Amino acid sequence: MRRWTARILICLILGAVTNFAIARWATYYAPMTEVASLPSGWFSMIAEQTRLDLRNRAIIDAVLTVDFGYTFTYFETADGWEVAEHRAGTPFRCFHGWVALNDGVEIHREGLETDGDYSLFILKPRYLPLVANVGVFGAIYFAPVAAIALARRVRRTKRGRCPRCGYDLRGDMNAGCPECGWGRPEITS
Ligand SMILES: [Zn+2]
Repeated sequence: MRRWTARILICLILGAVTNFAIARWATYYAPMTEVASLPSGWFSMIAEQTRLDLRNRAIIDAVLTVDFGYTFTYFETADGWEVAEHRAGTPFRCFHGWVALNDGVEIHREGLETDGDYSLFILKPRYLPLVANVGVFGAIYFAPVAAIALARRVRRTKRGRCPRCGYDLRGDMNAGCPECGWGRPEITS
């Protein structure tokens, strides 16, 4: 039904906008308060993402910051590598960007921009989390829309009216609706 296709589409668009807004907001306001040391499993994961073989190197400093909708990971190796990764989005981190430096010189950068002041833009999408987030927020928008439409349908049927348009069928549901065509066989021309 076209009306429902449109409703679902609008909810998904709103979900995408909400997801982006939260990711942006979380990046902007990430206060970096909860600082903890990085779990050891993260090193190889970041190394893979940065396409740098930083495994089996001595880590001299590491930071993991997790805030609402935002994760920052950083580590520094004994031989001068520094890798920082920012990830944003909730419930899944769907945007990320990272930068790798060696002896203070930038070697790799992906999906990360700054606009002079400390205003960070994380640009590289991670598609699976992105789709999942849009689905989650889309469903949040869709739930009340579906509930209201269903309640209206039930109310109309109880009153003997057409569930689709509300036209008074006086309880004769079998004949279908002469107003909107609900419950009537498709007229083929
Ligand atoms: Zn009708």
